[in-house]
Amino acid sequence: MPKVQCFECGEEYSSDEIIYRCDKCNSLLEVTYSDEEIREKLDFDLLKTKELGVWKYRPFLPCDKRVSISEGATPLYEAPKLAEWVGIDELYIKHEGDNPTGSFKDRGMTVGVSKAMELGLDKVGCASTGNTSAALSIFGAKAGIGSVVLLPAGKVAMGKVAQALMHGAKVIAIKDNFDRALELVQEAANKLDIYLLNSINPFRLEGQKTIGFEAVEQLGWETPDRFVLPVGNAGNVTAIYKGMAEWERAGIIEKPPTMTGIQSEGSKPFVEAVKNNKDKITPEKDPETIATAIRIGNPINGPKALEAVYQTNGSAESVSDEEIIEAQKKLARLEGIGVEPASASSVAGLKKLIEQGRVDSDEKVVCVTTGHLLKDPQEIIDILEPPIEVKPNFEKIKEIID
Ligand SMILES: *Cc1c(COP(=O)(O)O)cnc(C)c1O
Ligand SMILES: [Zn+2]
Repeated sequence: MPKVQCFECGEEYSSDEIIYRCDKCNSLLEVTYSDEEIREKLDFDLLKTKELGVWKYRPFLPCDKRVSISEGATPLYEAPKLAEWVGIDELYIKHEGDNPTGSFKDRGMTVGVSKAMELGLDKVGCASTGNTSAALSIFGAKAGIGSVVLLPAGKVAMGKVAQALMHGAKVIAIKDNFDRALELVQEAANKLDIYLLNSINPFRLEGQKTIGFEAVEQLGWETPDRFVLPVGNAGNVTAIYKGMAEWERAGIIEKPPTMTGIQSEGSKPFVEAVKNNKDKITPEKDPETIATAIRIGNPINGPKALEAVYQTNGSAESVSDEEIIEAQKKLARLEGIGVEPASASSVAGLKKLIEQGRVDSDEKVVCVTTGHLLKDPQEIIDILEPPIEVKPNFEKIKEIID
């Protein structure tokens, strides 16, 4: 059985206990495996089976599969035209928008909701900038347990709200920002017996580790030099690094790739912490960006994600909303990869780091695009010219095409 351990003081907890922070020091918790467990679980035959998706990597997951909807197994695209645009020789896009609800959150939720079922709980909940709520809702629906989601009112992209509503979650819009919604859902979880599935929950992060596993496998068991990804609550940076560090311990890879986190200029507490070499985040009060999925002033996994960056000699950078939109268009028009704004920040950030000489053009880089284009149709309507309306007349059409 894996243990649950405090990330700061090392205090150990049973993995059957429902607990989200250390009783002793109030720090974050993580799921840990002993060296013996890592060795025992290592099974190359399994890793080489044709099976695809999150549960393929079950030797490195903390519970059994109880609810699953074809999560994971997302494409890793080689992106030569985009590589040229950002100024790098070799670039890969791990497109997490191809998950069942259109974001990587499905990887975390298949494991998180399976854990809730193992614990015998009948309600799950989260606060969300949107995608977490969509993922929680489908796995809650499939598992036949109730889902409660708290959203910042008016700040969630339409596609995401639509998903949560349609899959039958109780959707509550808080007249404040995401950070406040997260405080409230933690209180609700403690007082109302709801299993909390924000990324403070260490079991959810275990599922998200599989992004890194899959990318390495898709590269022919070769480790990329670097992962670049958007940072909101900093769960994904944490999770991918954790998985890679476990594969290093298991002897599957030589060392974890360099972890690079990208935020938006209007919402960059993580970038500030890295730039100042801090091991804690100073929260930002009023984060604002077109990339609503990462509009977060107080990234809950800050301490863990900072370690992921420091341990791998990584970096963090911020990009403007204009740079995000430009990268979003390039992804769509050069490579046919449709992403929501937050996802494009990874590519925008990589471009900036290359221009600054902080990433070499001969590195093998994987950018993670975290969510699908259709999540946020309003953003697209706002940034692009609308369709040209004409009378049903061939001459008119010819005029426009010419
Ligand atoms: C949740 C989310 C993020 C942020 O991920 P964290 O793990 O919170 O850092 C980025 N992009 C999209 C599309 C998301 O849904
Ligand atoms: Zn502790």
